[in-house]
Amino acid sequence: RQGVVVITGASSGLGLAAAKALSETGKWHVVMACRDFLKAAKAAKGAGMADGSYTIMHLDLASLDSVRQFVDNFRRAGMPLDSLVCNAAIYRPTARTPTFTADGYEMSVGVNHLGHFLLARLMLHDLGKSDYPSRRLIILGSITGNTNTLAGNIPPKAGLGDLRGLAGGLRGHNHNGSAMIDGSDTFDGAKAYKDSKICNMLTMQELHRRYHEDTGITFASLYPGCIATTGLFREHIPLFRLLFPPFQRFITKGFVSEAESGKRLAQVVSDPSLGKSGVYWSWNKDSASFENQLSQEASDPEKARKLWEISEKLVGLA
Ligand code: NDP
Repeated sequence: RQGVVVITGASSGLGLAAAKALSETGKWHVVMACRDFLKAAKAAKGAGMADGSYTIMHLDLASLDSVRQFVDNFRRAGMPLDSLVCNAAIYRPTARTPTFTADGYEMSVGVNHLGHFLLARLMLHDLGKSDYPSRRLIILGSITGNTNTLAGNIPPKAGLGDLRGLAGGLRGHNHNGSAMIDGSDTFDGAKAYKDSKICNMLTMQELHRRYHEDTGITFASLYPGCIATTGLFREHIPLFRLLFPPFQRFITKGFVSEAESGKRLAQVVSDPSLGKSGVYWSWNKDSASFENQLSQEASDPEKARKLWEISEKLVGLA
């Protein structure tokens, strides 16, 4: 039978490119889990995805209620779940004041990490029931959260500290707390994004430690390359948006097109040679995949456990 893959944030960029790549193989039915139904419908049509090869379902990761409703709707639709891709993200690089999710958590970590944390935890149940030969749960990582790389050393650097801001509920100063995971007094949107990506990579490894052996599910993360043209950079200053793609293309040579990045993510979903669990995949300049190393913080098991326990409380699972 066809596999069923859920991709969050499939209305643009990498998520859309991967949805297209997977649906075109004919081997996958793609559930596009998106916050803006009409935008997703237009994007799928615009990308030339065939009618019947995908289903759009509403999911707003900035609301834990919406995450729970999405899971209910998906189950009611009666489809199996063979692969889940936690891809959606927001990036607010120039923000100096926090915004908050429906549940009152700082938006970057709330959407990129907490919304996906709840979704992944709930949908483990569905993946566990699937009879598909290789079931996978994938969470997008990033080089920018990895301080063992050049890009990861561009300030502000990622760093979760002792997680005191997260433990305090990421509420911001009006509520006598901090909107930053490390408890810092000043909000920095660029750092909040990088921190959320460390959370994504730590969560993938903690899922692997807790569930891989018992369930056989493959847990993976990846850095698909710098896709300098996606909507991720929409809130950046215009000069940055003008210069970033040629800078990546000609200077760092890390540039990757949306179509190529979509193929890479599709490989992590379905390629038999990428079935190993607990891996953070990257690609070299010849577009060959390899198992990449994470920074010390992004692979710290003690931090991963602590992050897991605090996140469980914040999303109402503990
Ligand atoms: P885009 O901005 O193009 O896509 C992000 C997607 O997330 C959009 O579909 C957006 O929806 C969706 N989204 C945002 N907020 C929410 C929400 N509250 N609920 C549901 N969906 C939401 O960015 P990319 O394609 O570049 O990024 C995809 C992933 O790749 C991210 O995880 C990012 O961290 C990662 N990545 C990207 C890199 C790059 O260079 N671009 C490099 C490394 C990693 P909408 O269309 O409605 O805005």
